[in-house]
Amino acid sequence: MAENLERLKQRIPLLEYLQRHNWRPCRAGSQHEFVGLCPLHQETRPSFYVNAGKNLFYCHGCGRGGDLIRFVQLYLDLPFRQTVAHLEQELMPSPASRLLEQTAAFYRLQLHRHPEAARYLEHRKLHDPAVIEELGIGYAPGGNLRRHLATLDYSFEVMLDMGLISQQGRDTFCRRIIFPCHQQGRIVNLYGRSIGAAFPHRLLPRSKGGLFAWKSVSNFSTVILVEGLFDLAVLWQAGFRNTTCAIGTQLTPAHLAQLSDQPGRSVYIVFDQDDNQAGQKASRQLALRLKDFGVRSHVVQLPHGHDPNSYFVAGASAADFTACLQRASQP
Ligand SMILES: [Zn+2]
Repeated sequence: MAENLERLKQRIPLLEYLQRHNWRPCRAGSQHEFVGLCPLHQETRPSFYVNAGKNLFYCHGCGRGGDLIRFVQLYLDLPFRQTVAHLEQELMPSPASRLLEQTAAFYRLQLHRHPEAARYLEHRKLHDPAVIEELGIGYAPGGNLRRHLATLDYSFEVMLDMGLISQQGRDTFCRRIIFPCHQQGRIVNLYGRSIGAAFPHRLLPRSKGGLFAWKSVSNFSTVILVEGLFDLAVLWQAGFRNTTCAIGTQLTPAHLAQLSDQPGRSVYIVFDQDDNQAGQKASRQLALRLKDFGVRSHVVQLPHGHDPNSYFVAGASAADFTACLQRASQP
């Protein structure tokens, strides 16, 4: 029993649970400490502290504290046994993640049936079938998802609610390369990169989850953080399997907690080198935030105008990229 409870608490980190329930923390004091308004009582000044390393909370306002199970007991006003059952249920595949699994599987099948998808991957210099399969990359040709999901008994409303189809019944990811985003082994969102004229990036209107592929990347003491999933894919392909991504340059406290979950980790930040300096500015800001978390970081400069993907497309080798890492500055 005690062992099951420990596993349950590991699989649902307290900070993540709170954030899923819209708790908005600020960082406080030491690297794993966060503070925010207490979800258990009304207050105007934050006195609810969470230690993400120890997985514990304490509120100086109402004097209550403990672990995830204690919090949920108080938050949902449930007896101990029911609280545990409730949390175990949260870990079971929900109808939403089943729908996303089935959608991602369908898109994976489409990838090899549509020459425009293969051409696009070639254009981004992504060709290793093992990496493509491991990342679960698919393609949404448009026009056939609704019919497919209907044969699996999903209603129009469910697909619409998830954001997979529009009011007109059209596939919202039409003509996009699809990357499934996972959290704790389940698909929690889909990222779609347009191969045509549409706005390049699209995610479903729900959490994009934790750091990409963190389950495998967290084993490394040196981690490369990039902005986009094509950057990640080409770096994996070139042998840099320690690359992760938060899809964009804005990291949540949960992402920062992930990056600092192992003492002594170094992070190489490789954001896009844009003309307006946005990527460089975001890199420096993130480096400072990471420093507060006790994580050493390095800001990597690629040749002007490049992101990791375009750098490889332009002919760079793994050795060239390694040279950029070695030249990185430590702010
Ligand atoms: Zn309180």
